Amino acid sequence: MASAKVSKVRMRNSSSKKDLTESDGKSSPNINNFELLSTVGTGTFGRVVLCRNKETKDYHALKVLQIALVIRLKQIEHVKNEKEILAAVSCPFIVNMQWAYHDDKFLYMLLEYVPGGELFSYLRNHGRFTNSTANFYSCEIVSALDYLHGKHIVYRDLKPENLLLDRNGHIKITDFGFAKKLEDRTWTLCGTPEYLAPEIIQSKGHNKAVDWWSLGILIYEMLVGYPPWFDDNAFRIYEKIIEGRLEWPKHIDPVAKDLIKKLLVQDRTRRLGNMKNGSEDVKKHKWFKGVIWEDVPLLKLNPPIIPKVSHSGDTHNFEEYPEDGWKDAPPVSAADLENFADF
Ligand code: AMP
Repeated sequence: MASAKVSKVRMRNSSSKKDLTESDGKSSPNINNFELLSTVGTGTFGRVVLCRNKETKDYHALKVLQIALVIRLKQIEHVKNEKEILAAVSCPFIVNMQWAYHDDKFLYMLLEYVPGGELFSYLRNHGRFTNSTANFYSCEIVSALDYLHGKHIVYRDLKPENLLLDRNGHIKITDFGFAKKLEDRTWTLCGTPEYLAPEIIQSKGHNKAVDWWSLGILIYEMLVGYPPWFDDNAFRIYEKIIEGRLEWPKHIDPVAKDLIKKLLVQDRTRRLGNMKNGSEDVKKHKWFKGVIWEDVPLLKLNPPIIPKVSHSGDTHNFEEYPEDGWKDAPPVSAADLENFADF
């Protein structure tokens, strides 16, 4: 899970439950219908557990968040955002959420299980990716960002730890704990024009600009093997980001370098992806020459790495985590539970 992140969990309203039951005729949004197998990821206030539907025998990833911790860490809004957004999206490059549920201890989100593991692990094992490998992942991510931004959703947490590979090697973005739906334009522009601040007037893309910045960091990290600015001390990292000095290993493709430079522009109004033509500017960059963008969400690009997955519940692409009594979380009061009434 993302560091310092908050989790997400959800419970689910009755109409969602009805949809689920009607859609597959078998599963019911009841946690007792699932056998919890092993943890594949952990975070500040929860974990992701491989589980199996006792009836259908299908595998899923269950994201479990401890309600008491979500409240203590003031993550209620983030968790709600995650649930709302995952429920609203449908994109081949975003992990699919099947239902959400809660009891008096945990929030649960049932996700499709993505068995290939994190792109992060592949990147560390390879050292760095070739130009064409990095280009493939970038295409699928650009397609996903384009989809999200088209729905006025900003992701805000792009990094190799949050990018999973499905069993065919395509990207699935997970962890929407920082994602946010932007106010829609009607709301944004409903102030009195004479009184609007320039950043509100220019806010077409004000927030989504952060995703294009992170794409620049990600492409750099994929091609170089480490991010452009790092340090043991977080404040020093921030200083380096603001200083903006970039080092370029000789092997880096000059066309990729040009794209990265255009994404890592401090002034967000001049950042590629965040100008008048939006994502079209990114898609038209010459690093993506020859890409037929309509083909990308149809999964027509050939994945450069095919994960080794022996069966649909295989967890060997994930680290092992201790199952140290996490189910013994304290129940929360009815008043605290009220926070999640609209989940
Ligand atoms: P998250 O809290 O969403 O960042 O999840 C923590 C970790 O659990 C991720 O970094 C992944 O390694 C793993 N994970 C999350 N969602 C899934 C999923 N749908 N399938 C497989 N592993 C997952």
